Amino acid sequence: MPQTEIWQSKLLAYIHDPAEKALILLRGAAHEAGTVSALKELFGQELSQIRSRLVALEQVVKKADWWAAAADRVSLPKGRGGQVAFAAEPQIIHPLTGEKFSLRPLVDDAPVEAIEALSLHHFRQLVILHNGEVDWRKTFLAFWRFGPETPAKGLGSLWSQLPADTRTPDHTIWEHLSLASAFAGAMAGDPEGIPALMLMSFGPVQDFIAQARSVSDLWAGSHLLSRIAWEGMRLVCEDYGPDSILFPQLRGTALTDFWLLERLGRNVWPSDVKPSWMTDSTDSNPLFAAAFPNRFLALVPKSHAQGLAARIQTEVRRWVRTQSEAALEELLQVAGLSERGDSQNQIERQTKNFPEVYWAIIPWEVAGRDHLDDDQLREILRTFGTETQYLGEALDALLRGRILVEGVEFYAPNPGVAFPGLYQALEATHGSAKMLRPFSGVTEEGYRCTLCGEREWLAIGRGDPIERTGIFAPPQQRGETLWSLVSKKAQALAKEGEHLCTLCALKRCWPRLFVKECTKAFPELGRLDRFVLSTHAVAISTSIWQYMTHEDGDRRDLPEITSKKGKALNYLQEKMESVSGLRGAALPKRLYGKLRQTFASDDMLDFCKKIPALMDAAQSDSERDEIRQNLQDYFGARPETYYGLILLDGDQMGAWLAGDRAPIRVQDRFHDTTLENIRSLPGLQPYLAARRPVSPAYHQAISSALNCFSNKLARLVTEELFMGKLIYSGGDDLLAMVAVHDLPGLMFALRCSYSGVLPVLLDNQVFWKNLGTEPGRVELLKGHALVHKASRKELYRLMGEHATASIGAVIAHHQAPLGRVLTSLREAENRAKTLGGRDAFCLTVMKRSGGTEHLVGKWALDRGWSGSHMALLIDVRNLIARDVSRRSAYILTDLIAALPPQAEVLESVLRYQFRRQAKSEESLEIDELCNRLAQAAQEVQGKHPKIVHKEPQSPAGTKEETQNLWLRSLLLTADFLAREGRISNKAEKGGDS
Ligand SMILES: [Zn+2]
Repeated sequence: MPQTEIWQSKLLAYIHDPAEKALILLRGAAHEAGTVSALKELFGQELSQIRSRLVALEQVVKKADWWAAAADRVSLPKGRGGQVAFAAEPQIIHPLTGEKFSLRPLVDDAPVEAIEALSLHHFRQLVILHNGEVDWRKTFLAFWRFGPETPAKGLGSLWSQLPADTRTPDHTIWEHLSLASAFAGAMAGDPEGIPALMLMSFGPVQDFIAQARSVSDLWAGSHLLSRIAWEGMRLVCEDYGPDSILFPQLRGTALTDFWLLERLGRNVWPSDVKPSWMTDSTDSNPLFAAAFPNRFLALVPKSHAQGLAARIQTEVRRWVRTQSEAALEELLQVAGLSERGDSQNQIERQTKNFPEVYWAIIPWEVAGRDHLDDDQLREILRTFGTETQYLGEALDALLRGRILVEGVEFYAPNPGVAFPGLYQALEATHGSAKMLRPFSGVTEEGYRCTLCGEREWLAIGRGDPIERTGIFAPPQQRGETLWSLVSKKAQALAKEGEHLCTLCALKRCWPRLFVKECTKAFPELGRLDRFVLSTHAVAISTSIWQYMTHEDGDRRDLPEITSKKGKALNYLQEKMESVSGLRGAALPKRLYGKLRQTFASDDMLDFCKKIPALMDAAQSDSERDEIRQNLQDYFGARPETYYGLILLDGDQMGAWLAGDRAPIRVQDRFHDTTLENIRSLPGLQPYLAARRPVSPAYHQAISSALNCFSNKLARLVTEELFMGKLIYSGGDDLLAMVAVHDLPGLMFALRCSYSGVLPVLLDNQVFWKNLGTEPGRVELLKGHALVHKASRKELYRLMGEHATASIGAVIAHHQAPLGRVLTSLREAENRAKTLGGRDAFCLTVMKRSGGTEHLVGKWALDRGWSGSHMALLIDVRNLIARDVSRRSAYILTDLIAALPPQAEVLESVLRYQFRRQAKSEESLEIDELCNRLAQAAQEVQGKHPKIVHKEPQSPAGTKEETQNLWLRSLLLTADFLAREGRISNKAEKGGDS
């Protein structure tokens, strides 16, 4: 079929069920009536001119609907399952936990009687005409994107949550319609009507991101990779629509919207749909998020699939080359040069095989064309040595008629049910394609890029190996180069001595190129700026925060500050004035907000912003020491020089996608009423108890949950509840920088936010207060987050209680080379997964003096606050900072080294020492904490022997037996976190006090 008919069939498939079906079914109206017939009539006027075409289209739509339903729904015995009166019993199910929720309050508020009229009006407005005729492509895109946006105020979020099937309400009508339209397009586009699944990935990922000299490089690397994935997906969207991408979920993501706006035109975009990427000119703008994973799953016409994959490879590489050339132009302009010279050839060579692209394609026909006939599919699975009963034993038996349920017949299965098997085969094929990594065959010469060490650096004159010029000249004899010129003009693009290759140059220039692209395409954003937070600014923010929130006396009145402080202030202010062109550094958002809110004038804000800049501007060590001393006098505590980095990674993502992690049974997918109705049917038990197979909607649910976490919730938590800065966050991967006093709190908050749960038996109020931030902004509950914004509430569905995440964190000195810190960070994350056995954390303290401490612990959310090792760390830190003498931890670590790892022994020693060192008589809390510490220490030795490990660099020869290593690490880490000036010596007043 020609292109138009792909869009026609997609559009008809998208309207085959009215969105409000769940709400009107109970009134007995057939769902073909109402909205659907009205819309069909509208489109039919154009289509009916060619009667035969309409018939063909309707056949495609019907088949697409059947297959989509078979892929996403659980099969019910014919005539059983009862009717669910949804408006009376509006129950939906979390697809990743099986937990049931009532939409009762939403339904009560909704104008249900008027819903058909509202729905029709809503969609009518989205029909786009061109010269008086329906523009099929644009209309489909508008329906897909804006259909789920609420048509009326009172309908609110009910509209977007309406289930596709009220009897198995674990996926929405929108997911069903999208899948049906994806099938319809893929069927209509193929001469034989056969769809195919395509899995594609881009690399390298870790190595590419890790080649970074600054936080900005890290951001640019991950943002570029995410963009490359989008450039690949974009080509699929252009030809087959964004619904064809089954994973990740694209609707509402910033880049997809950005593309849609261009395709639809501004006059078509509804004025009341204003996502934050259109309005936010700070770098919280979602366009700055590296939102996409490096792989996608698409449903496309079988005959187009190979060609499409090859075209994507060519096009993403062309995109990289074009951007690289733009980066070079930027550099030339900065350097005041005009000729590209040899660098043009270098660019072409170095981008020739970048990125690596891998794909696998599987045509749906291996599972049959009209009826399920999956011998071929099972043969493929056998070849890979994987399970051929891809639906599990019970479902497989039912499907093939081996279970005879007395008097009960199931519907004949269509190939749609084979999705789990096809996906399994696709993963296996894709995995083996990646093993055959092609050899690039490109040779690089001369001195290599100072960032990656792999490729030649870009040179206008590449030089000569014999005469040792250009890239062949040793660093000291290079003379004037493109890079030396750039580094004199723009330090952000190249530091002194840096010489970069094509890809590293692109990474360096990417922040500029991307901002230019955004503001050109969408000028309303104004001066969109990505602000760069230095490690130094993050470190010092701890001192500023503590000074501001806990200092006694009248800090608002600058002139009247006591004399020592006053002198220090004078010194600092004069110093700031004496450095010409000293500009304030960016501060963490939360600190900035607090400063704004606390001080009426900008003076204090300005002063604080200039502190890190002043330290950086110091010319000598003695000058730096002098500034530091004055800061100490001013703050009343040593200025903070350490900061934290956090790397979060969801556990076992592959297993989640394969459906091996969510412990959901078939029966968990049914509405209570339906389950009641079929539960007693004889012979159905194995079926009901069987594990749920994966489905496209299940994959979408994972992707949406990860999108909610990484694009929305994680940013809010990191930057508004804690003094952190999200460097990148996409899918289940997150990297954040944070002030050292907020590090343990943020780690705990991110772990809980990932799943949308709290440690058991804890309420939100207490949880957030315990972490040292304000309660009431975010509530985590049952796999969801309820976010309270100024004017409204937002509900995000997250991964749920069965999903876990591991976190590696490092505390480092702000002057430690970033490369080394990142290596430690990755090692910490690895320790959390291996030593901690996942669902764990590892916190590494890299001391300036060279010592390193690793603390590995379990989150153990199922054991409540008192059972989590992170809570223990936080509580011990607070104890050392507030209630006992600071020597306690040192005395104890010596003592416990000689003790047997028995809880009673440890507890009595801990209690004795802490009580002895206590500042007050009150000891109830101390006793309780000592008990928890001792129990945990004994348990770790017995239950998690891997967590207990020796420090790698303990001096050789000192082979003394040391006991209780884990407890020792915990005490030392807590002690480090409790150091003077790091956290307040008074109890937190719950954040914003
Ligand atoms: Zn490089």
